[in-house]
Amino acid sequence: MKIAILSQNEALYSTRRLIEAGEERGHEMRVINYLRCYMNITSHRPSIVYNDKPLENFDAIIPRIGASKTFYGTAVVRQFEVMGVFSTNESQAISRSRDKLRCLQILAKDGIGLPVTGFAHDTQDIDGLIETVGGAPLVIKLLEGTQGIGVVLAETYQAAKSVIEAFRGLDANILVQEYIKEAKGADLRCFVIGGKVVAAMKRQGAEGEFRSNLHRGGKAEKIKLTPEERSTAIRAAKAMGLRVAGVDLLRSNHGPVVMEVNSSPGLEGIEKATEVDVAGKIIDYLDKNAVPGKHSDRIKY
Ligand code: ADP
Repeated sequence: MKIAILSQNEALYSTRRLIEAGEERGHEMRVINYLRCYMNITSHRPSIVYNDKPLENFDAIIPRIGASKTFYGTAVVRQFEVMGVFSTNESQAISRSRDKLRCLQILAKDGIGLPVTGFAHDTQDIDGLIETVGGAPLVIKLLEGTQGIGVVLAETYQAAKSVIEAFRGLDANILVQEYIKEAKGADLRCFVIGGKVVAAMKRQGAEGEFRSNLHRGGKAEKIKLTPEERSTAIRAAKAMGLRVAGVDLLRSNHGPVVMEVNSSPGLEGIEKATEVDVAGKIIDYLDKNAVPGKHSDRIKY
């Protein structure tokens, strides 16, 4: 097969591993910086031009779209789709997953376990919002944040009120969430490919830190999921229409709850913690499933 990896940087661990895994399996691998592509949106003959040449005859693409480049990145993925090229994740599913609130709404509709969550922009009813999630302590999140930035633990009602007022002054969209204290600063990253969990790790935040993000000094280790955790991760990826997903769970008193579903999950942390060849599993999935023009996204939201 001829496979394109849409990535801004060839030197990234995830990109390098995908090239390696593809070449080991005899495929022609090419890295395309999607920001440098331009598109010709002509009736009957849509095309993409990169380095002055049209991109032709690809069997599949693996999008690795940066969070801040979602708009243009998903437009390039969509252009490949209208040209009939199979993508590990469809453009619609990537866009959907990039909106935290939309994610939670879709997961809630499918009955998937979630932390109790409230959403607001400019509410006057701060008391009501805090009550919705059962009072302090609670977690407040900026909707646009990534890597744990803009995620605040408010221990008291007064602290919660001040932070909500401060964010409101910034004209930001916020989520207010029940604090899952019993998770003890750890979360589970489940790597789902084609409806199966292929690897799972537990990330533990640094001492005194409730956020487990590896970028914030968290440590990762391999973990065995319970059947309930496994099925929650699989259902979450399916609800979002993602063929490849990183599903983040917290272990709560009321069972596993989903915090986030990531459409371009990184490979470095999970491969190093679990010693699973996750890149190879993505390529194997393409080997079995990359049918030209195949669309499976039927999600209405
Ligand atoms: P980001 O997308 O910026 O990483 P997350 O929503 O994933 O933000 O939150 C970052 C980290 O904070 C999570 O990995 C988790 O460890 C912790 N966390 C987030 N929400 C909660 C919560 N409701 N209860 C307990 N811990 C949480």
